Amino acid sequence: MSHALTEPQVKELKGLLLARRADLQAQMQRNRANLAPTENTAGSVSQDENARLANQTREIDSVLTDLDLQELARIERALEAMDEGNYGRCEECDCHIPFERLKIEPMTQHCVRCKSLREQQGAR
Ligand SMILES: [Zn+2]
Repeated sequence: MSHALTEPQVKELKGLLLARRADLQAQMQRNRANLAPTENTAGSVSQDENARLANQTREIDSVLTDLDLQELARIERALEAMDEGNYGRCEECDCHIPFERLKIEPMTQHCVRCKSLREQQGAR
């Protein structure tokens, strides 16, 4: 049976969430820096080729940024739940999500059972 999280466990998970958020934010900053127009000093790449590459990079980057933003939102939501004291409860069945699962995926909002149920429903 799973039990409510103890305070040290919540603290540990909060550390994981904060570290993850810092990582993501740093990564997004790097992505943004990559988006800055680069001067073609090498001269080996044609203007067209350069523009094409820049476009490609921008497309990939915006997809990545979307994913990052989604993950960031989930992290924020988990941190909020922590503040409200209802972190670690399944949104669906209100059971306690085991600490072992939260350690792997600290921003999850569903227990394993509900998650696999949702995935089955989503597949059909
Ligand atoms: Zn559940």
